[in-house]
Amino acid sequence: MSVILLNHIDEVKSNIKEWKKDNLKVGLVPTMGALHAGHASLIKKAKAMCDKVVVSVFVNPVQFGPNEDYDKYPRTIEKDKQLCEEIGADIVFAPSAKEMYGENVNLSNTELTYVCPPYNYIDCLCGKSRPGHFDGVATVVTKLFNIVQPDFAFFGQKDAQQLFIIKKMVKDLNMNLEIIPCPIVRESDGLAMSSRNSYLSIEERKSALSISKALFEVEKLYNKGITDSNILFDTAVSVLDKKLELDYLEFRDFNTFEKVDKISKNTLTAIAVKIGKTRLIDNIILG
Ligand code: AMP
Repeated sequence: MSVILLNHIDEVKSNIKEWKKDNLKVGLVPTMGALHAGHASLIKKAKAMCDKVVVSVFVNPVQFGPNEDYDKYPRTIEKDKQLCEEIGADIVFAPSAKEMYGENVNLSNTELTYVCPPYNYIDCLCGKSRPGHFDGVATVVTKLFNIVQPDFAFFGQKDAQQLFIIKKMVKDLNMNLEIIPCPIVRESDGLAMSSRNSYLSIEERKSALSISKALFEVEKLYNKGITDSNILFDTAVSVLDKKLELDYLEFRDFNTFEKVDKISKNTLTAIAVKIGKTRLIDNIILG
């Protein structure tokens, strides 16, 4: 059966209602579109675990700050639909901002009920340089969960802080689904796949490669027995291309998200940089 593209919440809900009558397991893959092999890996995993798969494609205005790239974020819905078709997804849900939020479509609006993750987990890493971002993420993901009522939802390890926050939200709010984490998919040279890579010039793309190189260098030293975060930090920074502007490079316990000085198994090494106007993130879990 071919994938169907739906733009309206009611249409999705009525399909889901029919599936639920037949006791089918539903998987949701939330995305902002401009799909690449990283997204495809999530959709494939969903397909393997579920009877029906919904891929949402929605550039969520309330998770973008006023000076961020909401307007220029790549939108490639026809190609996205084609990829979903090839993998065998059932529904591509691509609502407009108005369909999701009515007229109230920006972060500063005071009319919308937001889901706000705990301050401790958003006042760091990406949350620190993107105020309000995770409120927007948690809100839209909650809305998608309510619309699709999935048994499983699939999130990439690439956005490690997002994954942590969503898992916590599901637990704290007793949401009735399981979050399935999926590993980072990289280009053959190591660069983590991202829809934002399309912004990079050839020169910037070369500089960006040093992000994953820095992480792999940390991993190499850790595997040789070096666990001092200062040494690992300095090494990573020395590998980074000088044209990159470092936002953060941090070592955190993957399970608690607490900062760690001594690196051990399950330490998340997370990095964010700016290259020109483009902000990229990547991470690696040691051990
Ligand atoms: P996005 O469209 O960037 O919001 O991403 C949608 C989902 O795909 C999120 O759960 C991301 O973590 C995941 N994702 C994005 N890039 C990758 C990648 N390179 N490997 C694995 N998952 C990814």
